[in-house]
Amino acid sequence: MALIIDDSCINCDMCEPECPNEAITMGEEVYEIDPSLCTECVGHYDKPTCISVCPIDCIAIDPAHKESQDDLLVKYAQLTGKFVG
Ligand code: SF4
Ligand code: SF4
Repeated sequence: MALIIDDSCINCDMCEPECPNEAITMGEEVYEIDPSLCTECVGHYDKPTCISVCPIDCIAIDPAHKESQDDLLVKYAQLTGKFVG
């Protein structure tokens, strides 16, 4: 599943440079995650790195973008050109 940043985000800038897929950008008021680019860090890390670095825990799974582990691996392969086992 892609993740979503809620509006309690304090724009601390911690997550944006950490995203391996460049899925996080500044939105109109707070940072946003592009669901077409977020693989939940599948293919890169064991856990979503944006959640790990966020000091206020305002990032969660987006129920509007449900994807299986296989879906996320396919997305990773499409984004990077790399295929994983
Ligand atoms: Fe980026 Fe990973 Fe966070 Fe998705 S879970 S927005 S890929 S850092
Ligand atoms: Fe917002 Fe959390 Fe990202 Fe900081 S790390 S900009 S609080 S989502």
